Amino acid sequence: MSEIAVPPSPAADIPWEQQFATRASGMVASEIRELLKILARPDIVSFAGGIPDPALFPSEAFAEAYRSVFADPSRTAAALQYSISEGHRPLRDWIVAHMAGQGVACSADHVLITSGSQQALDFLGKLMLSPGDTVLATTPTYLGALQAFSAYEPHYQRLHPEGGNQTPDHYLAQAARHGGRPKLLYVVPDFANPTGETLSEAARLRLLDLAEETGALVVEDAAYRQLRYEGLPVPSVLALDCGRRGGIERARSVYCGTFSKTLAPGLRMGWIAGPRPLIEKLVLIKQAADLHSGTLDQVVLGDVAQQCLEDRLPLLCGTYRRRRGAMLAALEASAPAGTTWTRPQGGLFVWVTLPEQVDTRALLPRAVEEARVAYVPGGAFFFDGRGGNTLRLSFSLADEATIDRGIRSLMALVGEFVRGHG
Ligand code: PMP
Repeated sequence: MSEIAVPPSPAADIPWEQQFATRASGMVASEIRELLKILARPDIVSFAGGIPDPALFPSEAFAEAYRSVFADPSRTAAALQYSISEGHRPLRDWIVAHMAGQGVACSADHVLITSGSQQALDFLGKLMLSPGDTVLATTPTYLGALQAFSAYEPHYQRLHPEGGNQTPDHYLAQAARHGGRPKLLYVVPDFANPTGETLSEAARLRLLDLAEETGALVVEDAAYRQLRYEGLPVPSVLALDCGRRGGIERARSVYCGTFSKTLAPGLRMGWIAGPRPLIEKLVLIKQAADLHSGTLDQVVLGDVAQQCLEDRLPLLCGTYRRRRGAMLAALEASAPAGTTWTRPQGGLFVWVTLPEQVDTRALLPRAVEEARVAYVPGGAFFFDGRGGNTLRLSFSLADEATIDRGIRSLMALVGEFVRGHG
């Protein structure tokens, strides 16, 4: 198709900014989304995007699942039709079985299918946050969660789940000063984005105590939970909660899961599992937002998950484990003195803290042009303006030799920068 010429138009002269709702003022383009644009350059080694390796998508299983839906007229008709907001029942049944494997006994009524777990975060903000309410979160934390919650105009307070939390009274008093209450306690307990760190069982139990004492809901973002490369799994927050309180109906937490990291993000499929009173309201929010996630994709994803998700985990984990090993070894061999980094047991990220004087935002253009490497400056993940000397590296996309080369070039540049400012 030939391109349609757009006639020249004078610049906008309507002061839209004054007309937008107050919640829009905090909405700015994410640094990561902007960075994703340079991922397309073949000469740049990208450690920036936290995206799965497309070579690991089960493309043939998806193709077969779509073919099989279209080979059966009654399945075709159902898959192309509107369906219920809760989500396709066989897919929810798969999730119920999966949650049982995580130590959470629940039924299909405790599960809502969402368009990726990103939509789950938005819906939880919509359900729980009035303007001025408080979200408790670690710093740094997942930028997409901050974007989702910020649309509901909350305040943020820092959470230190491994030790150093404020007292519940302090959190309550601080929240009251802003005219609200602590409502959400957001954590990525396994192989967090951006740090790669995992919360201990004791820290998870402390979070549940804090939820009880402040009345807040724990949001367990389990996006990377299935990507464990070493060590024993730590029980999920929701599983611990159900264990303590005698079942999911009495839980103070919800679990946000996703198929993005284990099957493919392009289908935009995730879920929330939690107590029924919350799920029932979230179903209404889903209805208002988009009626339901795409029926065809839910049907296909249900088939593919059933057929091959568990069987593919060793391939995914084996591949990412080797890449993580290459990144850690290259850092060990080439990072200048004063640099520290996390050693994740799973997930896709290593979090690096450079000597104090290095500004990773200022360094990025040189990293791209001179070291031919992209990363995400860590400041993007803080809601309190800190983290200027930190950066997030993802090891998901490049092979081991490329990772080795990229990290060594980046660290050589950092070394030069440190010496130049020494
Ligand atoms: N939570 C975390 C911690 C993530 O890193 C991501 C994706 N980068 C998401 C949620 C959203 O993923 P999706 O919407 O694809 O499920």
